[in-house]
Amino acid sequence: MIEAATLDRLRALVGDRLQTTQAIREQHSHDESGHAHALPDAVLFVESTEDVSAVLRLASACRMPVVPFGTGTGIEGASIPVHGGLSLDLSRMDQVLSVNVDDLDARVQAGVTRLQLNDALKAHGLFFPIDPGADASIGGMASTRASGTNAVRYGTMRENVLGLTVVTASGEVIRTGGRARKSAAGYDLTRLFVGSEGTLGVITEVQLKLYGQPERIASAVCQFDTLEGAVRSVIETIQLGVPVARIELLDELQMQASIAYSKLDEFMPAPTLFYEFHGSEAGVAEQTATVAALAAGHGGGAFRWAAKTEDRNRLWKARHAAYYAGLALHPGARSMVADVCVPISRLAECVLAAQRDSREAGLVAPIVGHVGDGNFHVTYLARDERERALTVSLHRVLVERAIDAGGTCTGEHGIGIGKRGYLAREHGEGAVSAMQAIKRALDPLGIMNPGKVLPDAG
Ligand SMILES: Cc1cc2nc3c(=O)[nH]c(=O)nc-3n(C[C@H](O)[C@H](O)[C@H](O)COP(=O)(O)OP(=O)(O)OC[C@H]3O[C@@H](n4cnc5c(N)ncnc54)[C@H](O)[C@@H]3O)c2cc1C
Repeated sequence: MIEAATLDRLRALVGDRLQTTQAIREQHSHDESGHAHALPDAVLFVESTEDVSAVLRLASACRMPVVPFGTGTGIEGASIPVHGGLSLDLSRMDQVLSVNVDDLDARVQAGVTRLQLNDALKAHGLFFPIDPGADASIGGMASTRASGTNAVRYGTMRENVLGLTVVTASGEVIRTGGRARKSAAGYDLTRLFVGSEGTLGVITEVQLKLYGQPERIASAVCQFDTLEGAVRSVIETIQLGVPVARIELLDELQMQASIAYSKLDEFMPAPTLFYEFHGSEAGVAEQTATVAALAAGHGGGAFRWAAKTEDRNRLWKARHAAYYAGLALHPGARSMVADVCVPISRLAECVLAAQRDSREAGLVAPIVGHVGDGNFHVTYLARDERERALTVSLHRVLVERAIDAGGTCTGEHGIGIGKRGYLAREHGEGAVSAMQAIKRALDPLGIMNPGKVLPDAG
C-alpha cells in the first residue's frame, strides 16, 4: 500500500498524471492472460526519461514497488502488480526519435507500438519485422524478448535491439549498446535488459535494426492429411535452409476455431501451415517450388495463394487472432498458454505428444505455433477446478518434455508469474543464483516488478 504522504509527493512531481481512480487502476490490474488480476495503488503516466528517473528516485526512497506497463498484452501476467504499488504506464512516450535510412536503424521511445512504427517506416521503404500478434509497445516487446511469426527469418527482439536507454531502480539513467552492428566492448547489458520483464529497470528508449521492404512477398496456405505430415514438412524445410519468412502451424482444432472466428470458410478444419516468402521474384519462385514439393511429400494438398495485399492481410490477421479464436471455443474458460520451444529435430514428437495428452484428458486445447523456430503454443482452456488441475499437470508434462529435449519452457512470452517454477529446472540452481545476484546488484531494495521471473524475487 502506498502511503498518502508518498502519493502527495508523487503528485507534487507529476500533477494529474498520477491517477488513482478505480477504472484506471483496473485497466492496469491485468494483462491478456488468465492470471488473477491485482490492482496497483496508483497509475503514473510518464512522459520522459527524466520523469522516470525522478519517480524511481522517490520509489527507492519510499521502497515502493514499481511495475512498468507497456500495452498490457502480455500473456504471462508479467505486468500485473501482484504486490500493489505503482503501475508505470509508458504509453505517452510514443515518439519515433530518428530513422536512419542509410544505416537501417531507428531510435524510438519505449511506448511506440509496432504498428505505429511500421506506419512511420512505410514512406522510407523499410519495416520492423517483429510481430507479436498484438499491437504491443516496443519497450514491452524488448522487456519480454518477444518474437512472432517473422522470427524464423528475421530473429527475435534479442537480435534486433542494438541499444537501450534504461533507468535503473535507483533512478540512474544508463545507455547500453549503440548503433554499430557489432561490438565487443564490455558486458552485453543490452541483452541483459532485453527479456528482463521490468525486474531490473525501466526501458525508455530503444535502438532497433530495420529491414528493406522485400521486392516480392507471397503468402500461401497448405492443408495436410495429418499433423505429423505438416510438422515433418516444416522440419525438412528448415533443415534444407529454405529462407521462409513465416511458417505457422495450426492444428485441426485451432483451424476449426479460426474458421469460425475469422470466417475462413474456404478452409477445412485440418492441420494447416500458413507460409510467407520474401525476396526477389526468382528467389521467391525457387523457395515456393522447394517448399511445395516438401509439403506434397508429407500429405500436403494444393497451395492456396494470397497474392493481393488485402488477401494476405486477411490471412495474417486471422493467424494473429488465433488466441481469441481459441478462447471462443470454450466460452467462460480461463486460458493457460504453453509456449515451449524445442530443437527442430524434436518438434514432431513434442507437438504430437502435446495433442495426444490433451485429447486423452478430454481438454479443449488448440495448438498453434511458430514452428519454423521449434516454438509452439497449446492454449489450455479450463472452465472448472477439474479442468484447471488437468491443465496444470499437462502443462508441467509438456514443459518437462521440452526441457528434456534440449528446449525451453518459454520461447517468447517470458516467465512472468506462471513459469517461475520452471527456471531452475531449465537453467539449474547455479544459473538462477547468478540471476539473483544480478537482480540484487541492480535492484537491491527489490522494488522493480517484485514477484516476477525469479523464484523468490520480491
Ligand atoms: C493475441 C496475442 C498474440 C500474441 N502473440 C505473441 C507472439 O506471437 N509472440 C510474442 O512474443 N508475444 C505474443 N503475445 C504477447 C505480448 O504481445 C508480448 O509479450 C509483448 O511483448 C508485450 O508487450 P506490451 O507492450 O503489451 O507489454 P506489457 O504486457 O505491458 O508488459 C510485459 C512485461 O514487460 C514489462 N515492460 C513493459 N514495458 C516496459 C518498459 N518500457 N521497460 C521495462 N519493462 C517493461 C512489464 O513490466 C511486463 O513485465 C501475444 C499477445 C496476444 C494478446
